[in-house]
Amino acid sequence: MTANDWADFGPETRAVRAGHERTAEGENCEPIFASSSFCFGSARDAAESFAGNRAGNVYSRFTNPTVRTFQERLAALEGGESCVATASGMAAVLSTCMALLQAGDHIVASYGVFGATTTLFDNHLARFGITTTWVSPTDPAQWARAVRPETRLFYLETPTNPLTEVADIPAIAAVAREHDVLFAVDNCFCTPALQRPLKLGADVIIHSATKYLDGQGRCVGGAVVGSHEFVGEKVFGFLRTAGPTLSPFNAWVFLKGLETLTLRMRAHCDNALGIARWLEAHPAVARVHYPGLEAHPQHELAARQQSHFGGIVAFEVRGGREAAWQVVDATRLLSITANLGDAKTTITHPASTTHGRLAPEQRERAGIGEGLIRVAVGLESPADVRADLARGLDALVGGA
Ligand SMILES: *Cc1c(COP(=O)(O)O)cnc(C)c1O
Repeated sequence: MTANDWADFGPETRAVRAGHERTAEGENCEPIFASSSFCFGSARDAAESFAGNRAGNVYSRFTNPTVRTFQERLAALEGGESCVATASGMAAVLSTCMALLQAGDHIVASYGVFGATTTLFDNHLARFGITTTWVSPTDPAQWARAVRPETRLFYLETPTNPLTEVADIPAIAAVAREHDVLFAVDNCFCTPALQRPLKLGADVIIHSATKYLDGQGRCVGGAVVGSHEFVGEKVFGFLRTAGPTLSPFNAWVFLKGLETLTLRMRAHCDNALGIARWLEAHPAVARVHYPGLEAHPQHELAARQQSHFGGIVAFEVRGGREAAWQVVDATRLLSITANLGDAKTTITHPASTTHGRLAPEQRERAGIGEGLIRVAVGLESPADVRADLARGLDALVGGA
């Protein structure tokens, strides 16, 4: 079956079944094809394959059955025609840019995107004559004002990291369409289990599969999903030549991750909402950022655009960096690491880690205060996560 044939099936069925065609061995679980190249029946078959006139596997830089199974499954989940898997999330961002842009082109991007994406645009693409204008994710009018004749790409992440600001995908998509600009959405935080950007008007979806698609913190990988014309031809064309390819083993890990994606995301969201409400009531906490709270500025938009509110919670403690570090250091269960999308709850102090390289003014503009803590809520018993955070938070109140 092709990705389109799966459209009639429910999302949970697609997550478990799409993309795998049983081989003659009759296996039930998807096999790992650990083979760098594939053989042809004859010299003519080889010639036809190299000419692109014959379907089938050639070389695992660009065709591998396990990687293809992952690509077809993710395409079926996102509702896209084509998917190209990549060696990392950043390789997915780079491959999209390399497939689309040339010297002189211009990008409009949300200032709330992943740190390495900011560096890629400002420090690396800039050397090739590609410039970027940074705008607010929550103000579509800024996107419209930033457009120039040479603008080719709109780049968005929603909800943002770590403040969980929610962008209006249909509103930004309307601006992109009006100006004939490709609109890419990094769907890492929501995954197709919570948000379907292609349905909402985006042209391309970027994934870091490293996060929730894996879900257990094992492998680095990524993917681009979109039209056959752009992703299936142009992004694939760049990948097959340049080679930031996903390994069959990592593809297999992500495939197995997709099978439990809906269940896991539901649990991440339920646990995160519980933690957010509990934090909101804690006297040491000045502010909680979580789209599921009624007080969140884009709560209604998030409720409309996403099926649930996600697993990331950020909160501000009174007392700046010293107090925030105390809360981080008082944990015994949580993992002090910047990764997210893991069964294990992780905790990080953005101002001194993920956003540590920004100048203080840039950090201030991005709203990353010294008292801010980000928690990527995992799948442990919620009471244990609360108790682990309470140790440091209660001490702050006691010490005041
Ligand atoms: C981690 C991340 C990336 C980059 O992915 P890698 O797999 O680490 O290369 C891109 N976007 C978002 C939102 C991320 O969280």
